[in-house]
Amino acid sequence: MILKTIRSVTMAVLAMVSVGVSAQDLLASQAPVDKKMRAIDSVALQRQIQKEKMEYPGFALYPSWINDRVHVYANAAMPDSFTIDLKGFCMPTESRKITSKYGPRRRRMHKGVDVKVYIGDTIRSAFDGKVRVVSYERRGYGKYVVIRHDNGLETIYGHLSKQLVGENQIVKAGEPIGLGGNTGRSTGSHLHFETRFLGQEIDPSKMFDFPNQDIVADTYTYYKPGSRKKAGSKDGGSEIRYYRVRKGDTLSKIAARQGVTVKRLCQLNGITTRTTLRIGQVLRFS
Ligand SMILES: [Zn+2]
Repeated sequence: MILKTIRSVTMAVLAMVSVGVSAQDLLASQAPVDKKMRAIDSVALQRQIQKEKMEYPGFALYPSWINDRVHVYANAAMPDSFTIDLKGFCMPTESRKITSKYGPRRRRMHKGVDVKVYIGDTIRSAFDGKVRVVSYERRGYGKYVVIRHDNGLETIYGHLSKQLVGENQIVKAGEPIGLGGNTGRSTGSHLHFETRFLGQEIDPSKMFDFPNQDIVADTYTYYKPGSRKKAGSKDGGSEIRYYRVRKGDTLSKIAARQGVTVKRLCQLNGITTRTTLRIGQVLRFS
């Protein structure tokens, strides 16, 4: 009995000592419980975030969710820059043939790329997202689908012969959303593919490389016109970004695509304009 009491007093004293000497140990022994709680919290939180994302992709970016038109963001506040994660992509079509590039065309702006497809070819969602518009424009897109993606981008698929999805439907990257066609203002079946950020069109070939059936880089950064830091400036942003060299790349092509000067690319990577680029080589561009 006495022995037992002494032992428990000793234990208590030891415990007190250990609190005094090493509060860290005590904290450490509690940590697993804390972590567990946090894990539960974050699971619930993640589920909630996921649910909101599903209901309303790009919630933090986009002011509205409107089904009836493509262009609804005239008053949206554009961030100075926004990096779009392209990693979860799927090429919208297996076709590698660009028949018309993005850019001025016959006095009009061609706001997407045209990719050769045949009537009935499967057209797929470029990323996970939610279908915003399924509509028809006789003099324009023909039968078209607009999808807003979780990464902040919207993609438009025009001239379809058939739409396979409905408005507000959740889609996964690679899910068939329509069939290739020749509807609307179109001569010869093709897919008209647009990429837009908050309504602002971006050249899809800066993100999607149809001939190589791949993305151009893991991310694409949108810069609001005029907000971009001067290329080569010492404080040109703290974000470090990389580009993987592909077949056919040259320093000037990469520089143009990533919006930096060749000089800056050389500075960042310790190379010169005469350095031979290897396919797969990783270059820092910011
Ligand atoms: Zn087109």
